[in-house]
Amino acid sequence: MPDKRTFDVAFLRLGKSKFRSRFRLSAADRKYISDKGLDVIRRHCEDFIRMRLAPANPQNDGKQTPMRGHPVFVAQHACACCCRSCLEKWWKVPRGVPISPERQQGIVDFLMAWIIRSADIHSGFVPIVHKDD
Ligand SMILES: [Zn+2]
Repeated sequence: MPDKRTFDVAFLRLGKSKFRSRFRLSAADRKYISDKGLDVIRRHCEDFIRMRLAPANPQNDGKQTPMRGHPVFVAQHACACCCRSCLEKWWKVPRGVPISPERQQGIVDFLMAWIIRSADIHSGFVPIVHKDD
């Protein structure tokens, strides 16, 4: 998993993938984020990662993440965090073993960073971006 210092590099790498870079937040996604707030979206993100990705052998692995319907799902596809084989291929998260809580948080941080970048500020939603350095 990329850590916070290397998110930019990771996003550039994803941007080179035709498939990954096609994923965008819809107007409905942006409204949902704006209505719920980032803390709630983050909690949903934590739940999805814990329940759908973190087990050693997740249910329906490879098909557990819908293409749309929640901003986190869109982020998961855009960030190659949609299933265990994409996590292994892109981010070297080994398959067949549970994902540790620390690593789950790293995935959540990465997905939330993508969501914050992707949310359209013109819709009236102004994300708060914390810069570490
Ligand atoms: Zn996948």
